[in-house]
Amino acid sequence: MKICRFIEPQTGRARVGLLEGALVYSVPPDTPPENYQHAAHERPLALDVLRLLPPVVPSKIVCVGRNYREHAAELGNPMPAEPLLFLKPPSSIIGHGDSIELPRISERVEHEGELAVVIGRRARRIGAGVDPLSYVLGYTCLNDVTARDLQRRDVQFTRGKSFDTFCPVGPFVVGGLDPLDLYLETRVNGEVRQKARTSALAFNVPLLLRYISNIMTLEPGDIIATGTPAGVGPLLPGDVVEVEVEGVGTLLNKVSAEP
Ligand code: MG
Repeated sequence: MKICRFIEPQTGRARVGLLEGALVYSVPPDTPPENYQHAAHERPLALDVLRLLPPVVPSKIVCVGRNYREHAAELGNPMPAEPLLFLKPPSSIIGHGDSIELPRISERVEHEGELAVVIGRRARRIGAGVDPLSYVLGYTCLNDVTARDLQRRDVQFTRGKSFDTFCPVGPFVVGGLDPLDLYLETRVNGEVRQKARTSALAFNVPLLLRYISNIMTLEPGDIIATGTPAGVGPLLPGDVVEVEVEGVGTLLNKVSAEP
């Protein structure tokens, strides 16, 4: 199942759609994610004429820091013994094709391409004997854009991670993938800057789902950003940054200075 959100041309309203080839079938409003597949679909629209929105509207974005050994090392950090969690606000989300705006108060904003997990049904305290992946709607690409200088200056990650436009997500949410071994690549102006397989994650997706759901209830649409591999680097005005996840597609965003 491949899910998108888009602006309905006739009404201007945001809709959820299921993608089949180049066609998008609208899902009736207020359909819970777990029923998308079986919801009655309207006449399809052509994908290439639609304006895409971020594919989900999360109540929170839970991020994992230092989850690839080489990335922890490149920033001079030790690997954590347990998943290192922080949050990004939903107000930081933008979609495929939108612009990342570099805030004036930062002198170094960096890309962090990541595999993102999207929750399909409420998950609270996932126990042993339950498959954590049964709570997953699908997977998408995410760029955990970071003002590195501000992150280093502050004790908390909040400021450096939370500017508007600092969470590009999309273009689609794709179900049925094996999150234990997906190829992930980040390019800036076509040049590969980060690449890894998710098999290199120190804390894998099932472990993260169980761990996080024992701290906070995960709601449908919530996002878990699983961490970035080595190769993070600066973004400059005019750059084009792409995050590609095997089986999902490519999330593309331009970079501009704060207006
Ligand atoms: Mg990150």
